[in-house]
Amino acid sequence: MSAGEQAVAPDCGGITVIQGSKSHQPPQQVNLAFGGLVQTMKEHLPRSLAYKDALRAFLADVDAGPKGAKALEAYDDQRAVDSYVVRYWTQYLNESEKRCYNFGVRLAKAQHQAETPWGRQLLAEWERNVDEDVRDALTDGFASLQERLWQKVLACFQSARVVVNRCPRCSRVVRTPRAQQCLWCGHDWHR
Ligand SMILES: [Zn+2]
Repeated sequence: MSAGEQAVAPDCGGITVIQGSKSHQPPQQVNLAFGGLVQTMKEHLPRSLAYKDALRAFLADVDAGPKGAKALEAYDDQRAVDSYVVRYWTQYLNESEKRCYNFGVRLAKAQHQAETPWGRQLLAEWERNVDEDVRDALTDGFASLQERLWQKVLACFQSARVVVNRCPRCSRVVRTPRAQQCLWCGHDWHR
């Protein structure tokens, strides 16, 4: 498969995954444009963590990290991968999972705001209209559904059935799943 060609990852949600040319390759020598420095970039997979722990680590990282323009020396591939996955993992759910997840988010919120008109309305909808799939998915509560879906997506990343979006030039993790520009080395691969 050539660089930038699109592929749908089987069993890992219905989204189109844009694969960088180096996503599946082992660690390699990367010739960085800045300063002619040759550096070995080790490409990491996301760590195994419960969703709550991953989210906590991500929030701590956001608090601690440099704001605005990122310092190149501060780049840590493992942290970048973990942070990317915890931020974007719901994009890798399939349509049915997304529906259950989204309803779960609203239901959890409504249960905390049961006295508001919005909360009452959603809880009534839950009682009357919600279909079996969503009901089954939420049998053990939203936190449990979230953890199950998170672990499934994590497994997809760990087996490289889906990959984080990396810059085809410097291999660093880029900002979003569909970004085609690297804020680290400045490479732009828009076509
Ligand atoms: Zn780059």
